[in-house]
Amino acid sequence: MARRRLIYEGKAKILYEGPEPDTLIQYFKDDATAFNAEKKATIDGKGVLNNRLSEHFMTGLNSIGVPTHFIKRLNMREQLIRSVEMIPLEVIVRNFAAGTLSKRLGLPEGQQMPRPIIEFCYKDDSLGDPLVTEEHIAAFGWASQQDLDDMIALSLRVNDFLSGMFLGVGIRLVDFKIEIGRVIEGDFQRLVIADEISPDSCRLWDIETGRKLDKDVFRQDLGDLGDAYTEVAKRLGVMPRTNGKPAAGPKLVN
Ligand code: 5GP
Repeated sequence: MARRRLIYEGKAKILYEGPEPDTLIQYFKDDATAFNAEKKATIDGKGVLNNRLSEHFMTGLNSIGVPTHFIKRLNMREQLIRSVEMIPLEVIVRNFAAGTLSKRLGLPEGQQMPRPIIEFCYKDDSLGDPLVTEEHIAAFGWASQQDLDDMIALSLRVNDFLSGMFLGVGIRLVDFKIEIGRVIEGDFQRLVIADEISPDSCRLWDIETGRKLDKDVFRQDLGDLGDAYTEVAKRLGVMPRTNGKPAAGPKLVN
């Protein structure tokens, strides 16, 4: 097979040149990192699950008119996506207190927010993706005011959609992070959800037991990350199958 051109390699994914203009192939690795890559491991099968789960969420969003970069899944680890110009921001939506919000404001984990709270972080690993305000974003030209308004509207739609989907399978969507890109169509640009949506970028708690089913399992050494992601995939009905049989769950390799 001809060697593909590598466009970008990140902590959990690789982007290759796509088969058509304005497309890319997104490959999901098994690598797990936390605390800005200070903690690392390989979770056998994580990439397969995240490829499936991201496909599931992005397809659902496309079907309700929330545009995403997702075109189609190609195989167990790869999906075809639209090439977009990434906005250098992480958009975080919070429904319940956890993580850095709990730390920053001294809020008990699990406290419900009066309404979904949106935060922006500037994407820069060397700075640890710092929290920024709309003032910074506008002043440094990372996004226009119109972009910001559109990003907030899109993020709230994603939150409503995902919250409902998870609620239906007994999971609370505590918070999540998305990334957004620009697609130029003629004289117009529109924003689309890009990157991935998976348990790597969401906090997911079992509603009955409070069990964590997301990357905090790895960050906080709470057990087997593969088991947690497999549980999410099973509940959503997207557990990968091999030869008609459910595939074995992922295993921690190192
Ligand atoms: P926190 O700010 O509390 O660490 O994270 C809030 C939410 O955004 C969590 O669901 C967390 O997983 C997600 N998140 C924040 N930063 C990143 C990041 O750099 N990568 C990924 N995958 N998720 C992130």
